[in-house]
Amino acid sequence: MENEQVMLPGLASAQQSYRPTDGAASEKDEEERARKPRFEQIDREQLCWRMVNVERLIADDHAARAIWEFVGKLNLSGYSAEIRAVEGMAGRPALNPQLLVSLWVYSYSQGVSSARAIEQLCEWDPAYQWLTGAAVVNAHTLSDFRVQHDAALKGLFVQVLALLSADGLITLERVMQDGTKIRAAAASDSFRSKERIEQAIKQAQEQVEAVDEMTEEESTRRVAKARQRAQRERQQRLGSALKEFEKLGAEGSVKDKKKTRVSTTDPQARVMKQPDGGFAPSYNVQVNTDAANGVVVAVEVVQAGNDFEQLTPGVDRVEHNLGQTPAQVVADGGYVSRDNILEMKSRRVEFIGPQCDEAGKGKSSYEGRGVSPEYHSSLFVYDAATNSFRCPQGKQLSYEGKEERNSQVSYKYRAAMADCQGCVAKGQCCPGNQVTGRSIQRSEELAEVAEFRQKMQTEEARQIYRQRAQVAETPNLWIKAKFRLRQFNVRGLSKVGMEALWACLTYNIRVWIRLRWRQQEAVATAAA
Ligand code: SF4
Repeated sequence: MENEQVMLPGLASAQQSYRPTDGAASEKDEEERARKPRFEQIDREQLCWRMVNVERLIADDHAARAIWEFVGKLNLSGYSAEIRAVEGMAGRPALNPQLLVSLWVYSYSQGVSSARAIEQLCEWDPAYQWLTGAAVVNAHTLSDFRVQHDAALKGLFVQVLALLSADGLITLERVMQDGTKIRAAAASDSFRSKERIEQAIKQAQEQVEAVDEMTEEESTRRVAKARQRAQRERQQRLGSALKEFEKLGAEGSVKDKKKTRVSTTDPQARVMKQPDGGFAPSYNVQVNTDAANGVVVAVEVVQAGNDFEQLTPGVDRVEHNLGQTPAQVVADGGYVSRDNILEMKSRRVEFIGPQCDEAGKGKSSYEGRGVSPEYHSSLFVYDAATNSFRCPQGKQLSYEGKEERNSQVSYKYRAAMADCQGCVAKGQCCPGNQVTGRSIQRSEELAEVAEFRQKMQTEEARQIYRQRAQVAETPNLWIKAKFRLRQFNVRGLSKVGMEALWACLTYNIRVWIRLRWRQQEAVATAAA
């Protein structure tokens, strides 16, 4: 016993496998090695029943629980008005609006904005299964719910703001406004002239009549009805495209009637300049964000490609949603104009924006003409003694004449053609100018504009303006990058407006989850 070595079982079996063997043992080993190992088969053809604890499908701190809790605090009676199924009466119960709102909010937060995709996710995704109680919600129901309750959705957005305000997340001390272009659900080649659309309407009418005249042998009733419906929908779209021509004419935005085009797919979309410099059928989404915690306090979709006329309506929407005027509004050069400076002054709203010239024009007002910011008219130096300007290249712009428009007097100055045509900076200063020199205007500066210009020279105002990009552009970036809403899923100004509202509603609920719900959860977990 003293000399007996104790060997671990694993080591013993390892040694055994390397033990020199005699002939009989070797044959047995060969035989064993020749037999293949046997594994359990994976059967993907089977249909199986499984016990699922729906409540435990997602973690306690899952965002779906937070969304369900938050939506549960809202008054959803605006969605119940059309529900016919009532307690005590026969018939299938309707889907709870709390479920449909939660499903859309959760889906947008996950970058899913297609009703069909949500229907599919309901079949297997744990968060969707938890929300629905392991049921599947039909894509048509979801799709209709998203765009058929305009007033209820707007009411919901205001309710969310009221809850966030009560929670101390909105102050309205500083509100930033920014616009972002989101592509319409229409291709660039869907734009047609008025004549082409009138022809297409005629053709669609002829096709409807041809389908009407088809005999039963030629077409089954179902197929004929489907064709008729498709043609009538096409006619309707073309009809609204014709109305858009009238609207464009009334707006005075048509420069050349012959060149004007309207989309036959989404007639209310407009071709707009994109951040990458290209052009695409789009809508302009105006977002007002409270600087305190980044809550979106107003949103609207407009057809205008520029932002000049959007500042006052933006302030109006904030007032409407929260019953209070913001103390300060911050916006980029696209919103700076004499009219906006005057309007904000009259409303006692402090306006912070980039520097402008004496006429109240921001730098972006020159962008459309290809003028670089370094050659903005505010950088031309006025010399009262000679009543002329000096350009950044040191050339003189001489007085040319006086102009009076909307009771505003302005004086025009122009550089010599020879100076500009041979200038190294012509491409940045006046690229479209082929036969004359660069011109600028000096306006009789209004006291309000002078005050704005003076304020924007102070370090305090500049520092506030520097915060603009981070606060104002975050919701826009989030909506496009995280919610993947780079193109609308629906068509027409009203429906597109609702989709933008869903995205901003989701954004605000995400802010609440991050700033309030997560903290409450952490405190509750620590206390448990
Ligand atoms: S293009 Fe004319 S105005 Fe402009 S910088 Fe050159 S010389 Fe001056």
